[in-house]
Amino acid sequence: MAEKIRDFFKSFLLLELLKGMAVTGRHLFSRKITVQYPEERTPQSPRFRGLHALRRYPNGEERCIACKLCEAVCPALAITIESEQRADGTRRTTRYDIDLNKCIFCGFCEESCPVDSIVETRVLEYHGEKRSDLHYTKEMLLAVGDRYEAEIARDRASDAQYR
Ligand code: SF4
Ligand code: SF4
Repeated sequence: MAEKIRDFFKSFLLLELLKGMAVTGRHLFSRKITVQYPEERTPQSPRFRGLHALRRYPNGEERCIACKLCEAVCPALAITIESEQRADGTRRTTRYDIDLNKCIFCGFCEESCPVDSIVETRVLEYHGEKRSDLHYTKEMLLAVGDRYEAEIARDRASDAQYR
């Protein structure tokens, strides 16, 4: 009963409304935190999961050994790999596609990779105007890796200390 009376007076005196107005008033003159993107940006974690890349070793050799762990672990079935054995006995991919329309950016592929080949970069500003634009082939993924290798290596090194 006492609770009902309290609720009645709370509604009658518009206490909730006044509380809300007080919050608005407090923030009206405080420092604004709106980020003027793209001129301003918020900090990004070295673990940011953006556009995928395939990496190479410093001698130019592809890291990927076509073990297909990333393909097996991908919950979205977004990765398609075909491979063959080279003359020197090593195995390399002949096809490595990621369908970014399907990808949920979970990061499982990069976590499963034993040779740090497939990674997710900090790149978030990319788009497609049709579905096929977001179908990334091996060549496209290697090109992303070549372009951002310095940043990827730095991020992997700083990430390693938390593992
Ligand atoms: S981030 Fe996740 S969903 Fe996307 S390709 Fe990798 S494993 Fe698949
Ligand atoms: S990217 Fe890594 S996990 Fe995927 S097939 Fe190549 S070596 Fe294996």
